[in-house]
Amino acid sequence: NEPLETVDPEIAEVLKNELGRQRGTLEMIASENFVPRAVLEAQGSVLTNKYAEGYPGRRYYGGCEFVDVAEDLARERAKSLFGAKYANVQPHSGASANAAVLSAIAEPGDTILGLELAHGGHLTHGMKLNFSGKLYRVASYGVDPETFLIDMDAVRQQALEHRPKVIIAGWSAYPRTLDFAKFREIADEVGATLWVDMAHFAGLVAAGLYPNPVPHAHVVSSTVHKTIGGPRSGFILTNDLELYKKLNSNVFPGQQGGPLMHVIAAKATAFKLAATDEFADRQVRTLSGAKLVADALTTEASRAAGVDVLTGGTDVHLVLADLRSSELDGQQAEDALHAVGITVNRNAVPFDPRPPMVTSGLRIGTPALATRGFGDAEFAEVADIIAQTLQLGAGADVEALKARATALAEAFPLYPGLETW
Ligand code: PLP
Repeated sequence: NEPLETVDPEIAEVLKNELGRQRGTLEMIASENFVPRAVLEAQGSVLTNKYAEGYPGRRYYGGCEFVDVAEDLARERAKSLFGAKYANVQPHSGASANAAVLSAIAEPGDTILGLELAHGGHLTHGMKLNFSGKLYRVASYGVDPETFLIDMDAVRQQALEHRPKVIIAGWSAYPRTLDFAKFREIADEVGATLWVDMAHFAGLVAAGLYPNPVPHAHVVSSTVHKTIGGPRSGFILTNDLELYKKLNSNVFPGQQGGPLMHVIAAKATAFKLAATDEFADRQVRTLSGAKLVADALTTEASRAAGVDVLTGGTDVHLVLADLRSSELDGQQAEDALHAVGITVNRNAVPFDPRPPMVTSGLRIGTPALATRGFGDAEFAEVADIIAQTLQLGAGADVEALKARATALAEAFPLYPGLETW
């Protein structure tokens, strides 16, 4: 019963340092968030000790009476949040949810059609080194070279040409809404199953700020740790009972053994919080903050410095900075922002002239700062710090910009009272 600090001081030091990093810098990686203390508690709990292969009421292990309650709560809350008839909350991650979905709706060798990775799609939508690219024939649709928007006529053309078994809608880096009804119409026309991966925008859907894919898709997968701000993990929704049964058996025993019951309990808590007004307000601030960042990167001064924003703005929690004409490439811009205390990730823009490890873009997200409490005033300040850093490049006053970022971080203490966790 010794504490971590005594048992393993090296790892205790890692936790302490990471907490310090999260507290002292401005986290703007679009796929990250800060879980509430309640989620940390549920996840760091004795439920990690329990084996519970199977599903509530039908387990292959004894002693599941309490973890069953947690999984039932997680399922019920997920269904109610997104208006779905059935939910599987066991996937360990977004990628394992997606592996289970694909194995339930396609056979190896079948064709899948998703958004190209270089245009904002995800690895699990057909990247060649991923299981999805190895097991399935991959076709893809991209964004329009002029507007950088997904053109539904082009999606339909690809669907008619490739006759996919599965059409995938969803993205990791795309700043606009998707037309799920149109995707379904195309899927029906070619006899495909429509799978929506809402990993990034699920929190916005829960708050009614992004179209809900559940009424349109055959199956919807998601993560819990991005805009929802819950534990790192995945879940799957459907309205189709037969498909639900297949999804269940493709999660367990298809992809996984014992579910992570501590994470499932934490998912239940995250879904409960996602139904509150406070959560909806946070998503409103998330969107408003992203628009302020987009505004700052599309001013005359930004454009004069070769900085712009793909599609000219955003409907979501992220902004895709376009640095094709900037003196800074994606790597240099990521480093420059890191130096002033803002964490983002470089990101290839579609048709990127620079190599993938360098890139000509940045993905800048607002969910974590909205969770920290930022409103329009703070987002306007952070947007200005970003714009100044990118516009001035090597000429930026790094110390002064960093002092402004640090002042913002200090004004919104993260996990007050926690020594470590
Ligand atoms: N799907 C999409 C659209 C994503 O953006 C991600 C994460 O980046 C995933 C799935 C995978 O989630 P995980 O990292 O939990 O495997």
